[in-house]
Amino acid sequence: MVRTDDNVGVDVVLVEDDDAIAASLVSGLGSAGMSVRRYASGRPALEAPPPDVYLVDVGLPDIDGFEVCRRIRSTGAVPVIMLTARGDEIDRVLGLEIGADDYVTKPFGLRELVARIRAVVRRSGAASGAEQVDEAGVSVGPLRIDPSRRLVLLDGADVVLTAKEFDLLLYLARRPGIVHRRADIMESVWDSNWYGPTKTLDAHVAALRKKLGDPSWIEAVRGVGFRLDVPA
Ligand code: CA
Repeated sequence: MVRTDDNVGVDVVLVEDDDAIAASLVSGLGSAGMSVRRYASGRPALEAPPPDVYLVDVGLPDIDGFEVCRRIRSTGAVPVIMLTARGDEIDRVLGLEIGADDYVTKPFGLRELVARIRAVVRRSGAASGAEQVDEAGVSVGPLRIDPSRRLVLLDGADVVLTAKEFDLLLYLARRPGIVHRRADIMESVWDSNWYGPTKTLDAHVAALRKKLGDPSWIEAVRGVGFRLDVPA
């Protein structure tokens, strides 16, 4: 694995009970330039100082990875990548109640994992030394988005979003009333090298509608994509 400047300073908390997998990740991500704090169970990881990104195994000895993710999500916007063992876990990982930002299915390659870590960290702007986010806030009616602090207010009240939900909302809100094509959204909000199904996009749209309290904030335009606007 090639060490690059993009990786250096990325602080990873790894929650994985399998010693062999954990050791290979600590060593692999370390040689890529990232620093890894490994925990063998969920509770100690939740008590540790927050990193730039969490890698969370689904099957853990104390509380399961879904619950770990849920608790991380309830306290902030640090991105979470789930390490899943089976394909049938993926729907739950992407499910609304979990709020993970991405997932990799075991067995996975280190190169793929590093790319996904970089993508979620870049989007969250959480890495130390990341470029300064210096963008003007976006307002659409009662909705106010502050990119530099990654805050969303609706009628003055906080709306707590996952890193990807935030990016999706910001993307749509920059040009309200305009229909954005699915492919454009996937390319801009997710990686351009994202090969996953676009049901990820639908799941995030559904989550945003729920959190904004009115599904008509985001209109689906059949066969095209999505449009954000103030509900009539
Ligand atoms: Ca496990």
